[in-house]
Amino acid sequence: MTLILCDVGPRDGLQNETEALKPAVRAELVNRLAAAGLPRVEAVSFVRADRVPQMAGAEEVVAGIHSRDGTEYSGLVLNEQGYERFAAAGLDRLNATLGATEEFNQRNGNASLAEAAERVERILAGAAEPVTVTISVAFGCPFEGRVDPARVAELATRFDGAEVVLADTIGVAVPREVRALVERTKAAGFHGHNTRNTGYANALAALEGGAQVLDASVGGLGGCPYAPRASGNVATEDLVYLLEHEGIETGVDLDALIRISEWLEAVLGRRLEGQVYRAGSFPIE
Ligand code: MG
Repeated sequence: MTLILCDVGPRDGLQNETEALKPAVRAELVNRLAAAGLPRVEAVSFVRADRVPQMAGAEEVVAGIHSRDGTEYSGLVLNEQGYERFAAAGLDRLNATLGATEEFNQRNGNASLAEAAERVERILAGAAEPVTVTISVAFGCPFEGRVDPARVAELATRFDGAEVVLADTIGVAVPREVRALVERTKAAGFHGHNTRNTGYANALAALEGGAQVLDASVGGLGGCPYAPRASGNVATEDLVYLLEHEGIETGVDLDALIRISEWLEAVLGRRLEGQVYRAGSFPIE
């Protein structure tokens, strides 16, 4: 198994910060993550700046990337307008995202679930780049509560040609549910938040269920704009520590990741949620 860790900090992380960082700083974060050996970095999203000001200037961020061999750079879109910007920017991988519920799609993408699924299908059919389809709120929704796994499984079958990632957007899932839904859908990946401290156990369960792609966010940055108390993604460095000590190679330099979180702490002026960057690696070399 070749594990692909995707750092979504520059996108899912920074879009939930109250302060919007300048594109040059966001590009620096992307470059630091690539230099740490991340096989994939979600660099930007191509969404409306009036709706997500933290993601304004995605093209400028992309222009600031020093493309590194061995790192795949991805960008998120919700619709065809976003896809046009993505295609013009020239990133390696598209992340087309929709929610598993009616209400989440209405709020996040201004579309019904049926419309959002059709948008993703049309984007998939037309895209020249490799595509990930992330199904948000696959385990629980801030508006609709529990999500029926059968519904997610049915939705996932519509995106057979893509790499499907199941997202626990508000951090409510437990390992039993994650393992079962990854097995059932044959999803390629899992995107977990650590809101209720189940994120790391869930990531391991996703691997047991057959996933090969894990999303994480340096420092544990992140949240969900519609679930104000949803805390960040699992911290990439904490996940790397766990995986490496479990004997699962990540290809990522843990010390370099720790230095990125230290830098981010200074940039953002607050303590981050990740724990390993404060505790340090072990054993000490
Ligand atoms: Mg997320």
